[in-house]
Amino acid sequence: TLDLPFFRRFLDRATTVLVAHAAYLTDLDAAIGDADHGSNLKRGFGSAAQAVADAGPTTPGALLTTVGVHLTNTVGGASGPLYGTVFRRMGKILGEDAEVAPETLGRALAAAVASVRRLGDSAPGDATMVDALQPATDAYITALGERRDTAAALKAAAEAARTGAEATIPLQARRGRASYLGERSIGHQDPGATSTALLITALYEATD
Ligand code: ADP
Ligand code: MG
Ligand code: MG
Repeated sequence: TLDLPFFRRFLDRATTVLVAHAAYLTDLDAAIGDADHGSNLKRGFGSAAQAVADAGPTTPGALLTTVGVHLTNTVGGASGPLYGTVFRRMGKILGEDAEVAPETLGRALAAAVASVRRLGDSAPGDATMVDALQPATDAYITALGERRDTAAALKAAAEAARTGAEATIPLQARRGRASYLGERSIGHQDPGATSTALLITALYEATD
């Protein structure tokens, strides 16, 4: 059930997993950026989790909106506003529902990826977080359409996100700092696509 406890479990897992992988994400960013992606997200999600604990949101939508506002305010650089947009957009689509319908989560993911693409002027193939978020969204909606099973659809989404993140390795970055490297960005996995895969995996793992 996609209720408030589900989204609380998601935020807990997301925060834990991003802290555990902060050094790895920063190493990925060191290769093609400015070596701060892991520390940005560690700080941002730590602060967002604290903000949620303080605010005590009563709906999934309010929880996601609180997270989004805090990511925008506390994470500098490109990923703060982009992830902030993801969470705020999803929060808005979920509205005041106490229990989110599986299809509504699909609509929220689709709206979120559209917002990132608009804000970042980015598309699949540019070697950004979009390369994980777009296939994850598509996989979720497709899997849900075939068999109305939220956990199975989230599992498919997590797998698609991981595959999408790995598929950035041979790509040349077209957006963000990594694009400044031109062809030298080829051969490196995009940090933002990697953190997105961790986040979608956390969403799947919140189902149990
Ligand atoms: P910064 O590059 O400002 O230091 P981060 O290191 O926290 O910010 O995040 C970098 C990640 O942000 C990239 O790996 C990429 O996935 C994502 N990103 C950067 N610019 C864009 C963009 N225009 N559209 C989509 N994603 C982007
Ligand atoms: Mg960076
Ligand atoms: Mg930076």
